[in-house]
Amino acid sequence: MKMQAVRGMQDLLPAKKRIFRYIEDLAREVFVGYGYREVGLPLIEYTNLFERLVGETTDIVEKEMYTFEDKNGESITLRPEGTAVCARFADQNGLLFNQVQRFWYHGPMFRYERPQKGRYRQFEQIGAECFGIETPDIDAELILMSARLFKLMGIEEKLSLELNSLGNEKSRARFKSDLVRFLGRYKKEIDKDSQRRLTANPLRILDSKDPGTKKILSEAPRLMDYLDVDSRSHFEMLREILDDCGVSCSVNPQIVRGLDYYNRTVFEWTTESLGAQGTVCGGGRYDSLIEQLGGKATAGIGFAIGIDRLALMLEEKEIEEKKVDIYFVSPDIEIRNTVFIMAEKLKDGIPRLSITVHCGDGKLKSQMKKADVSGARLALILGEEEFREGVVGVKFLREMADQVSIPQGELVRYCLDYFGKEKVLD
Ligand code: ATP
Ligand code: MG
Repeated sequence: MKMQAVRGMQDLLPAKKRIFRYIEDLAREVFVGYGYREVGLPLIEYTNLFERLVGETTDIVEKEMYTFEDKNGESITLRPEGTAVCARFADQNGLLFNQVQRFWYHGPMFRYERPQKGRYRQFEQIGAECFGIETPDIDAELILMSARLFKLMGIEEKLSLELNSLGNEKSRARFKSDLVRFLGRYKKEIDKDSQRRLTANPLRILDSKDPGTKKILSEAPRLMDYLDVDSRSHFEMLREILDDCGVSCSVNPQIVRGLDYYNRTVFEWTTESLGAQGTVCGGGRYDSLIEQLGGKATAGIGFAIGIDRLALMLEEKEIEEKKVDIYFVSPDIEIRNTVFIMAEKLKDGIPRLSITVHCGDGKLKSQMKKADVSGARLALILGEEEFREGVVGVKFLREMADQVSIPQGELVRYCLDYFGKEKVLD
């Protein structure tokens, strides 16, 4: 029996990994450009962090967590999301008192759900979180930042931004009881999960994908109509800033997000091009999260982008592979040490040069073929004759020019002239 990857885990082949890397690099550039600082968060936390912060009756905690006992008998969980972890991190490290913090992170998350296109058991997220600001300007900043990333990726046309406000606890409670009363009349008609949620977590019913339930919901009371005055003006100001900056959005009263910690602003970026897995980014405000952790009340807001889904949107767009500059050809393995000495000297002098030294056997002709396939601009050739004469052959693979022979001692100088200064580190 051949060994297989664990179900739901992905192997990222180079072409795919390149797209992931492209997205991560771009996100890093954009986020740093808004003053966000990268943090490193553990992949493993104590299970009760998620139980307490994400919520016992959410999908994540109810059925999606990878929870284990470690050798010490402690219950630990592979992180299913980053916000709770980042909040724990900020509180534990004393970063919240009287301070504003803008953080971002990226890396794998783990959820035990049914694997399908755009849904994996290990997937990558890029998240950004800001602590210490209550006003809607920061809500706008985060959304503008995500919009800029999507624009730079060239996919903004395929995405739409949907916003909602969950109000404060009081307005939510009033809404909740009216919603439960309304749905109580359709108890037998709504789907099984929603029936269960009617007592456990009624807001989540708004998230239901069941067509019958959705139809009933279209007549249900709307959270938007229950908003308290402050939440309403918070929401209006956010929409105004987005509007003034040319970011269009629509209000979707159905967005509640699957986690317990949100209040006021919640938002999603969605696409039609990925079928049922159409949400590529979700975020919102969580002003009571730090208190729930046992810390001092601190406002917070953040979002998480699913890189796997973004990568699916880019699949057709060619992210070019970085080409090799030089392919070193040497048919005789006995003199390969001279080849490595030269290649290392080249890297000392021109650190950004990308050099592939032919390793293993192979006749001159087959090595030259490999040099061509590698995309290199130059093939450097060290045969027995060149070795004896202390020179190296230079063959131009992308232009019509005769092969030249140059003294080995002049190779660095020669390549510096040929490839230019940009290959040298500043
Ligand atoms: P969904 O409704 O699709 O299950 P979610 O609401 O559970 O998404 P969030 O917890 O908001 O997702 O996570 C933020 C983003 O992470 C999602 O918008 C999505 O792009 C991505 N994501 C979530 N779960 C997965 C998964 N299992 N595989 C790949 N990407 C995921
Ligand atoms: Mg989910």
